[in-house]
Amino acid sequence: MTGRVVLVGGGPGAPDLITVRGLERLLEADVVVVDRLAPTGLLDRLGPHVEIVDASRTPTGRLLSREEIDAALVDRAREGKVVVRLQGGDPFVFAHGFEEVQACLDAGVPVEVVPGVTSAVAVPGLAAFPLTALGGARGFTVVSGNKSPDDPACGVDWPAVARTGTTLVVLMGTRHLAAITARLIEEGIPADTAAVCVADASLPTERTVRASLADLARDVAEAGLANPAVVVVSAPARSVARRTLVLGGSRSGKSAFAESLVRDEPAVDYIATTPARADDPEWAERVARHRARRDARWGTVETLDIAGALRTTMPSMIDSVTTWLAATMDGCGSWEGGAAAARQLAGRVDEFVDAFAASAGRVVAVSDEVGSGIVPETRSGRLFRDALGELNQRLAATADDVWFVTAGLPRRLK
Ligand code: SAH
Repeated sequence: MTGRVVLVGGGPGAPDLITVRGLERLLEADVVVVDRLAPTGLLDRLGPHVEIVDASRTPTGRLLSREEIDAALVDRAREGKVVVRLQGGDPFVFAHGFEEVQACLDAGVPVEVVPGVTSAVAVPGLAAFPLTALGGARGFTVVSGNKSPDDPACGVDWPAVARTGTTLVVLMGTRHLAAITARLIEEGIPADTAAVCVADASLPTERTVRASLADLARDVAEAGLANPAVVVVSAPARSVARRTLVLGGSRSGKSAFAESLVRDEPAVDYIATTPARADDPEWAERVARHRARRDARWGTVETLDIAGALRTTMPSMIDSVTTWLAATMDGCGSWEGGAAAARQLAGRVDEFVDAFAASAGRVVAVSDEVGSGIVPETRSGRLFRDALGELNQRLAATADDVWFVTAGLPRRLK
């Protein structure tokens, strides 16, 4: 007689949301080690000889320690019994399925895993809240909210989570919900983003609160919802007009990163601010390389009239602000100096900044970070550094997001 252990994911709680295989294994069991969040309604179907071991968590801890649970599984299997470890959702999602498998393997006890429908996916489905959508969220992120984002031991990178642009699913999140929603808003998710909290999903006691991200914690507290509950926050809607500034040093990978930001646009205007230089083969090769990297969706507009180019609603990329400024300073006679040249340049720069701020379509501007401390040797170098630094600051102030690229690695500054 050989005993064995079967880890069964029971689904979110309703007895009929377990899988067929999970139910079959459960009905073969001699021993069932069960959690509070498992579909305990199924235990009524077991024969009187079946031993039930309660491994629930309680508010003050667990009825059984992890070691005691492992021992319960291994010892009874060694007695030749079929031991089913019945858990809520899936045994490998915020549960100790893997450790239990390991304990069985270490003890030489055969073990099988029957996956379950995790609450992370089942609960949004039951609430008809889509995790991904055509033309909308391209993914979803599941995190634990059992620690406050303000807790140094939290372990969830909330700024990174907020940046994914995916639907967000938070398990175990009701206790710190106010801190979590506040942090998401602080990290840039719009306060009016749709959110939902569902407690006891799929059970007769199920309760749902729908609210904006800003109101969710208050409404959930007023309604008295508590764990087990799942919180889902929509992916932030893609805004129509979004201004992005991408900064970086030369050869930092900033253009490639900027291009990746408009990868999903069906068509993009590439606003080339560099007049072709027939006399410079190295430059021509650089431009050719750049062109080869871009696909057929790109239209090229060669112009220094950024204000004119940004009047369309077409998504556009300006590459680069640096070359635009250099050519514009050439045109204004800035290098020779004088009040008239300065006035002319100031006018052109204002026009650029205003057009960027008022752009009707998505626009990504690429610029160089030139002021890292070394004072340029020449007067024109100093002039250029100052003018570009100031222009970058003004663009950054009106941009919705600002990135800095170093060695191909983008970091979000704003
Ligand atoms: N392994 C489980 C998760 C265990 S962590 C799974 O895959 O679903 C426990 C958390 O799961 C709870 O705090 C809650 O966030 C979520 N949860 C489990 N069952 C739930 C239910 N019926 N309704 C709402 N949330 C549930």
